[in-house]
Amino acid sequence: MSVFIKKFDTMKDGRDVQLVTLRNEAGTEVSVLDYGATLHSFVFNGQDIILGYDCIDDYVHANGSYIGATVGRVANRIAKGKFTLNGQDYQVACNEVSRGGHLHGGMVGFDKRFWDFSVVEEDKAPAVKFTLVSPDGEENYPGTLHVSVTFTLTADNTLELKYHATTDKDTIINLTNHSYFNLNGCNGQNILDTELCIHADEITPVDEVLIPTGEYMPVENTPLDLRVAKPIGSVIAGDHPQVAIAGGIDHNFVLAHESGEMREACWAYSAHTGIRLTCSTDLPGLQVYSGNFLEEKSGKNGMAWGHHQGFCLETQVFPDAINHDNFPSICLRADEEYNSCTRFHVECRSAKA
Ligand code: BGC
Repeated sequence: MSVFIKKFDTMKDGRDVQLVTLRNEAGTEVSVLDYGATLHSFVFNGQDIILGYDCIDDYVHANGSYIGATVGRVANRIAKGKFTLNGQDYQVACNEVSRGGHLHGGMVGFDKRFWDFSVVEEDKAPAVKFTLVSPDGEENYPGTLHVSVTFTLTADNTLELKYHATTDKDTIINLTNHSYFNLNGCNGQNILDTELCIHADEITPVDEVLIPTGEYMPVENTPLDLRVAKPIGSVIAGDHPQVAIAGGIDHNFVLAHESGEMREACWAYSAHTGIRLTCSTDLPGLQVYSGNFLEEKSGKNGMAWGHHQGFCLETQVFPDAINHDNFPSICLRADEEYNSCTRFHVECRSAKA
């Protein structure tokens, strides 16, 4: 197995940021930063298929898009930052100012924390385990949370993310990874002609501030019916109030009504490179985000990007689940363990000449 650790950059406060690279025998490489346990690159068949930045300053100051980050404690939105647990009311930060709610863990979420790491081996495959402790009351969430996320690169070109957490008081948790994939190889082309197939019969529709209404909406006869693959651009161009509200795809697709068995959630394919990505998870939800609000930026290797330059496949429990009794639970009790697993598998099919 091959694991390489090198300094990526230095923060303004003098702290060094490390980059851990896993390489398999096929030459596929995955690199992760200890800042935010952030997936920085995923190079397959000579193409880097995720967005990232060249310097730490951009990750720290320009990352309203959560590029590549591990997101927590609670990924996605909590309406007005309010929830009740064990009869006690909590108010967490309304850090998404434009929509008046809580987004992706608050002011200093896990994406902005340094994680400790150690190189490990998972079934003989190269792996790196990132850990952090989130103190009781951090971002106003209850309970001291011990969290880990292990990135493993298998011989068959699967990147596996295994999450684990425990708490000393009942709390809420919903972890995900916020990588933006671009299967064209991050060469300036957008994702509009990438084909996407999602194995979901329903979404949890949202209101105008992207908070779930609490209903389940069948995708049948809507542009969000991706049970048969379609180009992402055709969904964005689709005429439906849910697409209009989000400016494209930014929806939680219902894979199941509870966490449980690993299952294929979706696949995406670029005819330009022939790269096909398959995502599997044991989580019940998949927030698919078509980069609708990606700001115009210059990313890795000087690549200019803007709206729809990448898409996220955020496996998770449903958004605002703590405020909807008919959604699966995101509570983690003091005597329980949180475990989840998501796999991103890449392969090459035929590409355009
Ligand atoms: C959300 C988007 C949000 C983006 C970046 C995604 O997970 O679904 O609505 O704009 O993250 O913050």
